[in-house]
Amino acid sequence: MFRVIKSNFLNYFRLFNSGIGSVLSSFIKKKYLFYSFLLLLFFTIYVLILNQIKNYAELKQNNFNTFLKSSEFNNIKNYIFKNLNSPYQEFTYTVQNNDTIDKVLRKFDVDVNDIKNITAEIANKKLSNIFINTEIKIITKEDQGINKLVSFFYPIDEITSVEVKRNKDEFVVNKNILKLEKQEVVLSNSIKNNLYSSAIEVGVEPNIIVEFANIFGFEVDFQRDIQVGDKFEIYYERLLDEDGVVRNTGKIFYASMFVNNKEISLYNFKYNNETGFYDVDGKSVIKTLMKTPINGARLSSSFGFRRHPILGFNKLHQGTDFAAKTGTPIMASGSGVVVMAQKYKGYGNYVKIRHNSTYETAYAHMSKYGRGIRKGVRVNQGQIIGYVGSTGLSTGPHLHYEVIANGKRVNSQRLKLPTGKTLDNEARNKFEVERIKIDVRLSNLRKK
Ligand SMILES: [Zn+2]
Repeated sequence: MFRVIKSNFLNYFRLFNSGIGSVLSSFIKKKYLFYSFLLLLFFTIYVLILNQIKNYAELKQNNFNTFLKSSEFNNIKNYIFKNLNSPYQEFTYTVQNNDTIDKVLRKFDVDVNDIKNITAEIANKKLSNIFINTEIKIITKEDQGINKLVSFFYPIDEITSVEVKRNKDEFVVNKNILKLEKQEVVLSNSIKNNLYSSAIEVGVEPNIIVEFANIFGFEVDFQRDIQVGDKFEIYYERLLDEDGVVRNTGKIFYASMFVNNKEISLYNFKYNNETGFYDVDGKSVIKTLMKTPINGARLSSSFGFRRHPILGFNKLHQGTDFAAKTGTPIMASGSGVVVMAQKYKGYGNYVKIRHNSTYETAYAHMSKYGRGIRKGVRVNQGQIIGYVGSTGLSTGPHLHYEVIANGKRVNSQRLKLPTGKTLDNEARNKFEVERIKIDVRLSNLRKK
């Protein structure tokens, strides 16, 4: 079988040769010329590369072989192949872990004095920080066999970038801030599964959802209160770039929820340099204590009599347990002073906070304490005071949370929490004006 194919092929070849042989031979001659030219070109390029190598080797007194493998060689090679008619070459470099501007510029063989000038200049302007996985654009110019740095460009956050440009032997550092335009939006949806997915569905940014949940943290227990068909509405600010891309989000002006068969509408109001959210009656949403001082936890054991999981007999469970992964942050449920932060009996690592003359809260079984948490320290509501663990008498990672009223442990989940301040007099009048303004803007935006 193989032989048959082979002889057929030979026949075709002979036919081909005798039939159009003359045309082909002239074509081959032309091709030969072309190939010679190509060879010459290649040789020229080769000499050029060799020259570069020589310069480099003399400059660095480096080993030739290691140089061939180096990225510098590739840069020069790329430069010759891609930009035969331009002395400029642009590189894009992705920042690696532990990179500094200094290190990156060294990788591109930038003159040591230039690097010194640049790093001093950007340190002076506090623009030295670069971040892993961001891209640095570097433009060099070939000048007598040496690649001279012309400019480079790197981002320092989503809207700010730094441009360093050569001006003779000096470098000019410019900070470029993207021009962002504010856009106010009102987004709403009914809740199908949970707040997060229903908000994402209508395009609310994740950080706004988190902020929204925090605002309602005192009003709504997101694990237990939410029913299918409940609603939310958010009025907030977006920051768009010139292409209409959302680069950042601004403040929330208004947040509303229909939950537990009632509507709670909260307005952003700044008074005496303090920003807060207030309901239609000018009452602050901030309560003295949170019901759930932890996010993403499941209530695993309520306050009351139960068979103790370790001791085995019936005992009054004098707190509320929230099951959560080890390391989940625990927040101070109200502002106050830390009165205990130590190992304490079966509680393991334990923190107790005194909020006012009536209330104290306690947090047990922590894996570790929050930064700076020790006896005598003042904490703010929502501040991280420790992390979920399973220290002391515990069968698995959870937070044991206690509310102590007048020295007696009470059920935190049934507690009628005292409300925060209500605006009055002058503050109330100002709030009313602000609230009406927000309502007007809201109704206009809803029509859009
Ligand atoms: Zn417990």
